Amino acid sequence: MDGTALNGVSVLVAGAGLAGLAAAYDLVAMGAGVTVVDVRDRVGGRVWTIHDGFAEGQHAEAGGDMIDEEQVQIRELAQQVGLKLTRILRGGFGYVRPDPSGHPRILPRSSVRGWDRLAEELKPLTTPYVLAEQRWDSPITANMARRSVAAWLDQIKADAELRATATGMRGFFLADPDELSLIALVDQFSSIDAPAIGTMYRIEGGNERLATALAARLGDRLHLNTDVVALSHRGRTVRVSVKNARALSQITCDYAILAMPATLLRRMPITPALPAQQHDAIVRLKYGRATRTLLQFSRRFWRAPSRPRAFGSPLPFGAVWDANEEQRGRGGILSLLAGGGASDATQAIVAKHGARGLTESLDWLGSRNAELTTSRQIVWEQDPYARGGYAYFDPAFDPALRAWLARPFGRLFFAGEHTSIKWQGYMNGAVESGRRAAAEVAAVHALP
Ligand SMILES: Cc1cc2nc3c(=O)[nH]c(=O)nc-3n(C[C@H](O)[C@H](O)[C@H](O)COP(=O)(O)OP(=O)(O)OC[C@H]3O[C@@H](n4cnc5c(N)ncnc54)[C@H](O)[C@@H]3O)c2cc1C
Repeated sequence: MDGTALNGVSVLVAGAGLAGLAAAYDLVAMGAGVTVVDVRDRVGGRVWTIHDGFAEGQHAEAGGDMIDEEQVQIRELAQQVGLKLTRILRGGFGYVRPDPSGHPRILPRSSVRGWDRLAEELKPLTTPYVLAEQRWDSPITANMARRSVAAWLDQIKADAELRATATGMRGFFLADPDELSLIALVDQFSSIDAPAIGTMYRIEGGNERLATALAARLGDRLHLNTDVVALSHRGRTVRVSVKNARALSQITCDYAILAMPATLLRRMPITPALPAQQHDAIVRLKYGRATRTLLQFSRRFWRAPSRPRAFGSPLPFGAVWDANEEQRGRGGILSLLAGGGASDATQAIVAKHGARGLTESLDWLGSRNAELTTSRQIVWEQDPYARGGYAYFDPAFDPALRAWLARPFGRLFFAGEHTSIKWQGYMNGAVESGRRAAAEVAAVHALP
């Protein structure tokens, strides 16, 4: 990276999640004068490690949790700022499904056939999609995108196993089969190794350490509790209106990177307005419901020889896994991620029976006599600065618009998980998009 490429150039980064912080890291390295603002009182956005309230000094992730082996951008950045990754969940994911009497049962690995069967059924769709090189401006993609996963399941007369597998994927897509565009499923099954889950990591001490390490390098260039409320750009100047403790002020800069979720970006007045297609893409993008429940118990009752420590399910509690196996202590934390309809269902269980109700729904894992010591629940669709877990594509989203989510407009650049193609919905997508946006600023600046 050329350390002088952006000397004398001012860039405002709106959003101090991983996307904004990764962008700022590279901009500083290129010599730019950087200002990063975030409306929250902390950095990290949807990466948030919770320490408070847990016994034995343990912690767990409220947002982004697992880092996959092939997610090189986040792994590289962590390494660059001196953080270590710890291997987790070596036993991979198992699967839990209700038996004919409705009781949850762990399926032996040998009988988990849902993935393979879905892959097989999807072949008539994945084949042309791969021929289209997975491009979202192809009519092949447009044709699939208009249908929901539920409509497709009806069309192929899917049996209970296929439907349960697709419903279980709401823990991944954060959308139920009737909400999710078929193209999302086809896209997932078109990647060679997906959706199989391989080697996984967490950042030692909590994923939030990546955000705080990046923020520490920014010093007084970072402004928290600062809301970007409007933006105008004309000629070579970008004017950003910010609100801090009710006081309005203006920051003038050469370029701006908007690294906030589309749910917030679409509320912000931009003058002159974005091109119609870009505006449409930002307005129409959906964000999934996601409730994370963290349950700390006095002992790790879920551990058993040769049994996985992570399970997907189509059940109301969602997916469940060992949230902190890498940490010391007799106690341990289970992480429940309920996406789409399971998010509503999980909240309903807790409203009626408290966290105990959720503990009881883990009976199949051995929770019967477990002592629940602490619980925390984070409902991301109620978080005012995220308004959902992460983006998903519904059947109303025109796939040809997707590219517009990441397209620069004049001196405005766009970053964030939702702008990534390969890693949308992941921390890696946030990091990669931030670094891409910083490189775009440098490229535009270098143009004659
Ligand atoms: C429950 C859950 C589970 C997840 N699990 C995983 C996982 O296991 N693995 C994985 O890789 N990823 C996971 N993710 C996804 C991952 O956390 C996100 O993709 C990533 O953190 C998004 O980063 P970002 O920088 O794009 O956005 P954000 O982290 O949302 O950052 C955007 C920032 O912009 C700020 N902002 C918003 N509006 C304004 C404004 N007007 N002015 C100033 N600032 C503003 C926000 O406060 C926020 O800090 C999960 C997410 C959730 C919610």
